[in-house]
Amino acid sequence: MVKICEYCFNIFNHDVKTCPMRSCGGWSLIGVDDMMAEVLMHYWMAGYQTIFSCAGHLYENLFNPYIGFGFHHEGPEGPLNIEYCRETLSRLHDYLVKFNKDHRVIIEKPKQYNNRDMFEVKAIETIKAIEHKDYSVRSVRLGVQGQFIGFLYDALEDLPIDD
Ligand SMILES: [Zn+2]
Repeated sequence: MVKICEYCFNIFNHDVKTCPMRSCGGWSLIGVDDMMAEVLMHYWMAGYQTIFSCAGHLYENLFNPYIGFGFHHEGPEGPLNIEYCRETLSRLHDYLVKFNKDHRVIIEKPKQYNNRDMFEVKAIETIKAIEHKDYSVRSVRLGVQGQFIGFLYDALEDLPIDD
């Protein structure tokens, strides 16, 4: 687990409550999976929010890499412009679906629930592998994880910027 400052996008690998960068002082730090930190930051900087994410754990029973792109209808500073956020999310969804023509990941349809809009991107091997592969084998998990995270990095290349 690392922490990312929501304001200056610096990554800290120790437990901090507020941003230690002198010029920032941001109070909102988000804990994320080490493996996801850098790629998440690129999406955030391009204007896309994420709600949750996990790179999948190599030694736990459950192995399920996923990322949820989306937004809460109510932010810390009050209600958001939902229509605008929805358009942004839908643009990202369409782009990722197009980028995923070789089916490297599973991209679910956008949905609304619990006062948020979101869609999930999941590793494609998770379902198959639980049935047909020995998931205690770390190298299998690393391969699945690599394909999932690799897709997210590759998709950054032509990512439409939301400003
Ligand atoms: Zn900061």
